[in-house]
Amino acid sequence: MSSGGVGPPPPLHVAEPYEPPSWITDFLTRPPRHGRLRLANLPTPIHRVAIANNDALPRCLRDDRNLTLFVKRDDATGGAELGGNKIRKLEFLLADALASGADTVVTIGGEQSNHCRATAAACRAVGRLAPRLLLRTRRRPAELAAATTGNLLIDRAVGATVRTLTPGEYGRFGSDALVEMACDELRRAGERPYAIPVGGSNGLGTWGYVEAARELRGRWGDDAPLPDHVVFAAGSGGTAAGIALGLALDAARRGVPAPRLHAVAVCDDEEYFYQKMAEIADEMGFRSPDGDEETADAFLRRHVTVHQGKGSGYAISEPEELAFLAELARATGLVLDPVYTGKALRTFLTEVVPRENIRDATVLFWHTGGTLGLYDKADDFLFGGGAAAESSPVTPLDPYRENR
Ligand SMILES: *Cc1c(COP(=O)(O)O)cnc(C)c1O
Repeated sequence: MSSGGVGPPPPLHVAEPYEPPSWITDFLTRPPRHGRLRLANLPTPIHRVAIANNDALPRCLRDDRNLTLFVKRDDATGGAELGGNKIRKLEFLLADALASGADTVVTIGGEQSNHCRATAAACRAVGRLAPRLLLRTRRRPAELAAATTGNLLIDRAVGATVRTLTPGEYGRFGSDALVEMACDELRRAGERPYAIPVGGSNGLGTWGYVEAARELRGRWGDDAPLPDHVVFAAGSGGTAAGIALGLALDAARRGVPAPRLHAVAVCDDEEYFYQKMAEIADEMGFRSPDGDEETADAFLRRHVTVHQGKGSGYAISEPEELAFLAELARATGLVLDPVYTGKALRTFLTEVVPRENIRDATVLFWHTGGTLGLYDKADDFLFGGGAAAESSPVTPLDPYRENR
């Protein structure tokens, strides 16, 4: 957790003022009003993946296209508890929760939700906020209570209250209505709940990624052209909306072309994400830098391409997807997650690059975290489709024999 300046850092529940520059607020006219908590390790590093002469690389990185790959390590925004992209949104959302006088936070997600895990841990880190999670699962509450894997382990460790929902109930009522129901129940019991939508993807949380885009620009250097392509996973749309708005407005200000932005959908479909991003931008008070007539929807469609990358479905891994994770990990030391980042980078490299014949280009992949989700698929990763165990033999050393 970072804090600027010298001397001991302030407590984590103390928000610092947040004032974005006017080249942003002229076009995103509703900035956060209650400041920002400092919960994330920022700025996150940018690594350059060694590609040249690396025979171990997946074929898609080894061919003659001459791609240079950078990775923005937002998996390193925190440790296991806070790490990943959601903490950037929570810096704004939890500042708002505290300012509103809330004493408990309600949010919702899948059983292995990185967002729910980060929210629960951040509530405890800040103090004063009791985390309450609504988790979508096919398992019965008693079975879920006995589960010990990945994000769930952290949810339980920090003492989140967990309520379960079936996928059917989730689809029928919708996540916003379910969060509202849970909040109503808490209000009747005299509590003061604060609702955070799925993925933290609303107008306020998305400022975390507008700010992240500004961070990338600052780190890259003011005069250097940004990478030609920026690639990231989309699950609830806030990360995509924030990166797109932040980078496109920055480019408009400079009068240079923005990088081509590729959002890879890991659930729903392409149209859903175009609409979701526009909805978020409207909530942020969007006005186009290219004329009053241009809607948020039109602006975003000009700057972002959404690609379908969910494969067989959200959080379902096919053998070739796990094999890609295993190959990439051996070749580069980079362990992506099976639900978001693995699907996003694989879809870009194996489908988008050949289809659009991308070559001689720089690519920045935004690693949004999620590694805890790999534990949920550990067996398939090591012994099934991933077959990662095959290249990692385990044998005894036998010190007695060495000493004879
Ligand atoms: C939530 C999540 C995403 C998607 O971000 P959204 O803002 O929800 O679209 C990507 N990667 C990981 C690891 C995530 O947990």
